[in-house]
Amino acid sequence: MNLYNLKHKNEKVSFAQAVKFGLGFNQGLFFPNDLPIINNKELKNLLNMNFIERSTKILNKFIGDEIPIKDLKKCIKNAFSFSGPKIKPVLDNIACLELFHGPTLAFKDFGARFMAQILSYLNQGNEIVTILTATSGDTGAAVAHAFYKMPKVRVIILYPKGKISILQEKMFCTLGKNIKTIAIDGSFDDCQSLVKQAFNDQELKNKKGLNSANSINISRLLAQICYYFEAFALIPEEYKKNLTISVPCGNFGNLTAGLLAKSLGLPIKSFIAATNANDTVPRFLKNNIWDPKKTISTISNAMDISQPNNWPRVEELFKRKKWNLKKLGYGSINDKKTIQTLVELKNLKYVSEPHAAIAYKLLKNKISDKTYGLFLGTAHPAKFQETIEKILKVKISLPVSLKSRENLPLLSYHMKPDFIKLREFLLEA
Ligand SMILES: *Cc1c(COP(=O)(O)O)cnc(C)c1O
Repeated sequence: MNLYNLKHKNEKVSFAQAVKFGLGFNQGLFFPNDLPIINNKELKNLLNMNFIERSTKILNKFIGDEIPIKDLKKCIKNAFSFSGPKIKPVLDNIACLELFHGPTLAFKDFGARFMAQILSYLNQGNEIVTILTATSGDTGAAVAHAFYKMPKVRVIILYPKGKISILQEKMFCTLGKNIKTIAIDGSFDDCQSLVKQAFNDQELKNKKGLNSANSINISRLLAQICYYFEAFALIPEEYKKNLTISVPCGNFGNLTAGLLAKSLGLPIKSFIAATNANDTVPRFLKNNIWDPKKTISTISNAMDISQPNNWPRVEELFKRKKWNLKKLGYGSINDKKTIQTLVELKNLKYVSEPHAAIAYKLLKNKISDKTYGLFLGTAHPAKFQETIEKILKVKISLPVSLKSRENLPLLSYHMKPDFIKLREFLLEA
């Protein structure tokens, strides 16, 4: 598989390089050189396969002979070793595609676990890789669990002390072994800035083999293509010609993966890019002006992003496929409407959480009764236990993966946002 840097089209890399580097020169994103296509017969065969077989075939289309198919299958099997996506009907013609039944209860498990498997596969030598990443909650948990107990990999995760939920913290700060977590006295931006400083420190980067494992990594994106196919295989036959998918967007990785599935030949009729009040993309699609505002805190906090990293990939894909960006559905929903929607969903006997509720509301507003729509459930409601219980006055029970960690002691280190201190820590780790 060959990829090019969207900022410097002359920079070409292999799949292995794209996974290891994350970003190209000047922070440019990597994009596939070839966009594979499947025909109707192949599609039919694919839809009849099980999740692992099908995902192997799909990812092999992109990755090619750089990873032998039997090795790729092993990676996929290890990565997707949890119960896959599920479809929960909400109305006759609307259902939730629940992507949160993985070990850390968010769709990020798919991408993070596949990336972990690929990095470990590519790292055949004796080098030790250090994954250094900052998190505002979900990413840290997915990455920590994906690399937990993996040989020759060390994971260091920075998070803002007191600014993630208690359950989120318990999820990844109680693991130990090769996972080290540091609570920083500061904001998420402070954590991200410390990580950036570490990546700009060439000596540190080389000595420690730093990799960021963040959401722009191409391996995470490719893994997410697979569940769009699974969704299509699971929906009722009569609706397959008329499917709209509504995606709750933050960095727009999930939507990019859906569009890549469509580019491959999966006949999804349309997509809706759903955001919260951080509506840079909806405003851009409406006015054609890119005007990011200051990020606002909302109850759908994983979508509190005003400069979405993956947007250049969406634009590139539309350009390459000669699709019209005007046909992409979009909309934004503020907190007040999100809360109303959670109640609306509860009255339909579906207890949801803020991110999925936003996608549901826009889908409901946009599709007709004669068409069919899926909205993506990106996280388990239990991750937002307090908020949901307060709004819906229901008791949310914790799934085993959370319950089993609830009473374990936190193992985090504690640090001021001081790069010199972090550098010492990394060199000793
Ligand atoms: C990360 C996340 C999103 C946003 O996904 P992107 O791929 O960044 O657009 C939405 N919902 C939840 C719960 C998330 O954790």
